[in-house]
Amino acid sequence: MELTVLNNTVQLKPKEYRSSIEPTWCPGCGDFAVTAAICNAFSSLGVNPDNAVIVSGIGCSSRLPLWMRSFGFHSCHGRAVPVAVGMKLSRPELLVAITIGDGDAYSIGGGHLPHAARRNIDLTLIVMDNQIYALTKKQASPTSREGMKGSVTPYGTLDSPINPLTLMLTYGATFVAQAFAGNPKVTGDIIKQAIEHKGFSFVSIISPCPTFNTIDTFEYYRPRIYSIEDLHADKTDRIKAYEIAESSLDHTKNPEAKVPVGVFYKVDKPTYDSKIAALKVKYKGTNTPDLKAIYSKFRA
Ligand code: SF4
Repeated sequence: MELTVLNNTVQLKPKEYRSSIEPTWCPGCGDFAVTAAICNAFSSLGVNPDNAVIVSGIGCSSRLPLWMRSFGFHSCHGRAVPVAVGMKLSRPELLVAITIGDGDAYSIGGGHLPHAARRNIDLTLIVMDNQIYALTKKQASPTSREGMKGSVTPYGTLDSPINPLTLMLTYGATFVAQAFAGNPKVTGDIIKQAIEHKGFSFVSIISPCPTFNTIDTFEYYRPRIYSIEDLHADKTDRIKAYEIAESSLDHTKNPEAKVPVGVFYKVDKPTYDSKIAALKVKYKGTNTPDLKAIYSKFRA
């Protein structure tokens, strides 16, 4: 039993998905383009803002729900995913998307990702990856390249970056994609596909921070980005998806290496929320556990 979130559609222009609050991001921040791409995706899908919630954590990018007309929840650092899971399970008819940064997603919030992915909860996770903690003024994040100098690593970080794409493929996400904020049209199309996907969809967006990350800039990425669409037609081929995803960080060691964008992987599997809905139907009116009796045992 699949649930639809795209009911009650409306016809709105992309700019009509924006709230009246002006973004406080620095001029040139990649997150502007991500916001525009989300608005484009919503408009092209006819999303009713009254049926959509955007959940964020803490960080520059996590201010995004404030600029949107849909419902929003600016939650705690690292906890946007469990908040969104709770929302989706209690209100499965809503479109629930998560917009967070790389530090929030992969560091303090990293423990939540495998479980949301393996359960295939119908959520769209959009990570704006600027490879740095920007709100706290330049510390190395889990995706910073080795050697990146930050305010507390003046000699360069000793850590190797994680690869979010290979991680999400391993965790069992049923939709895995990468986009680049330098191309909002393609990014909007990928976000649209992610929202349409029934299940846990993950979109990593390379979204440069021109204020604090002077290495991973728009100018750096623009000549290196390439589309995988022609190269990788069978989106259900997980091994091929993994191979391409693994090459995504080669550029940090080899200046000639390219950076892939597009949809890497997409398969259909029953969603967690649809399984819960099926259980409710199956056991409606039957002997349900006496929760009060169960809880009283723990209290005793
Ligand atoms: Fe964007 Fe960086 Fe400014 Fe934060 S500090 S708003 S990430 S440009």
